[in-house]
Amino acid sequence: MISPSKRINEIKQTLPDGVRLVAVSKYHPASMIQEAYDGGQRIFGESHVQELVAKYEVLPKDIEWHFIGHLQTNKVKYIAPFVSLIHAVDSEHLIKEIDKQAKRCGRTIPILLEVHVAKEETKYGFTPDELLAFMESGAWQQYTNVSFNGLMCMATNTDPLLPPPFGESLIASEFEQVRELFSTLSSKLPSFSIKSWGMSNDYPIAVAHGSNMVRIGSLIFGERVY
Ligand SMILES: *Cc1c(COP(=O)(O)O)cnc(C)c1O
Repeated sequence: MISPSKRINEIKQTLPDGVRLVAVSKYHPASMIQEAYDGGQRIFGESHVQELVAKYEVLPKDIEWHFIGHLQTNKVKYIAPFVSLIHAVDSEHLIKEIDKQAKRCGRTIPILLEVHVAKEETKYGFTPDELLAFMESGAWQQYTNVSFNGLMCMATNTDPLLPPPFGESLIASEFEQVRELFSTLSSKLPSFSIKSWGMSNDYPIAVAHGSNMVRIGSLIFGERVY
């Protein structure tokens, strides 16, 4: 039997102070989340709206739920009342909807903007140029019920042990690109503080390249059964 709380403690010992751990619990049962919770973990990440809502309803109310997957605009309303942070915000259309639903709930929803840097076509997100243009236009200021808290990205899915130009050198260069973008944007936006990058296979590289929030699933809960 896997003990998520034991794994979490082992991972936490490898993380420098100031790096927060999101335990990615998607596809794993509420009982495993409860075990991790009982060991002290409070931040959990989910990537499907229905699954998140179902878990929110049965688990302790002081859990900080992060939505980390691709979010469809028509589903924002289901998580708006309680979500603590939305990581992968990838269009202005989505920002607008989050703002609207946050207003209806009488709250401000913290979000991260997703940056597309990976070599894969399938990854979502703003390109660095789109993001610079959006932030420099000041258009973001009209969304008064959204708090722009930082950036999120996913590196190319490559085995870190492969030699350059793949592997660790590719992953590191992608994280470094987002780190630079973060530093440009944060000089103008005081609310920018979160750098969400790093998963089970690449989080040590992410931390070495500026991450202060890692999203780790399989290393904590085991392989997912879809
Ligand atoms: C599933 C997922 C993770 C966790 O992946 P692992 O490889 O299991 O650590 C992190 N971030 C996002 C956006 C995910 O969808």
